[in-house]
Amino acid sequence: MSIERCTRQLGSTGRRGAKGDKAMSADSAVKELTTPVRTCPVCESTSSRPFLDFAEWRVNRCRSCGMVFLANPPAYEYLSQEHAWTSSYEQESQSRRRREPILHALEDVFRALRYRLRPDRLGRLIGAYGLDGCILDLGCGRGHRSVRKLPPTATPFGIEIEPGPARVAEQVFAQRGGTAWCVPALEGLSNLQDVSMDGALLIAYLEHETQPGPVLGELARVLRADAPVIIKVPNHASVNRWVRGRRWCGYRLPDHVNYFTPGTLKMLLARCGFVVVRSRFTDHLPFSDGLWLVARRLDPASPGSEK
Ligand SMILES: [Zn+2]
Repeated sequence: MSIERCTRQLGSTGRRGAKGDKAMSADSAVKELTTPVRTCPVCESTSSRPFLDFAEWRVNRCRSCGMVFLANPPAYEYLSQEHAWTSSYEQESQSRRRREPILHALEDVFRALRYRLRPDRLGRLIGAYGLDGCILDLGCGRGHRSVRKLPPTATPFGIEIEPGPARVAEQVFAQRGGTAWCVPALEGLSNLQDVSMDGALLIAYLEHETQPGPVLGELARVLRADAPVIIKVPNHASVNRWVRGRRWCGYRLPDHVNYFTPGTLKMLLARCGFVVVRSRFTDHLPFSDGLWLVARRLDPASPGSEK
């Protein structure tokens, strides 16, 4: 499918410069950019209780469904510029390595062993669930993941909020007939045609999204029926999180605004028009910090699906 047929309003670049449209001073106060206290991103309950505090960041647990989430996340503009994930991830990783060098050396060893035992999980899932055609990579970064893992017949499209990585992704996707847009995910999705995509990758994305329900609802609209979606998020139900407590590597504030367990992720997907087709024990091992899951866009025409 051509780019023009996929999009409703955006051009091939679709870039909306965060630094251009909404200029912000470098010393903008976090509180000025902080959105009001969130409702639960899974069940939309307004009732939550404090779970953890990290300086000015408040992590709450929903009283209704148990979802843990950042209650006072920063606005998109803050994340796209002053606290861009790419740079903050590097800084946080280096900081953790300095604080706990032995622990991180051990984690590196276990991670290498895990990769040797089960290499290229994303590539295997893409092959097993037949991702091909127009594939949308939400939070695509520089786009290298899609280019490396998707079959050569696939056309990669991406949405990335950080301008630098989005520019790279736009170039590498263009070589395969696709493109990338530098906009918040909900805005990017709203510009795509109904049923214009054949699959999606949400790898290390949903934990960053302050509006995961509306985004998944829009994603369902642009996907064809039965389109596969591969998801990876940090697993808040991991043993590591229980043992490490507030020092768990998944707590990255304010970048990570949602802390899913297999249960809460399935709950959210069901509410947004998806059916989970794979969530095995090996996809979220207790001692792994990652949670993998494959869902499909529910066929609106099938019995029992949502209207
Ligand atoms: Zn809830």
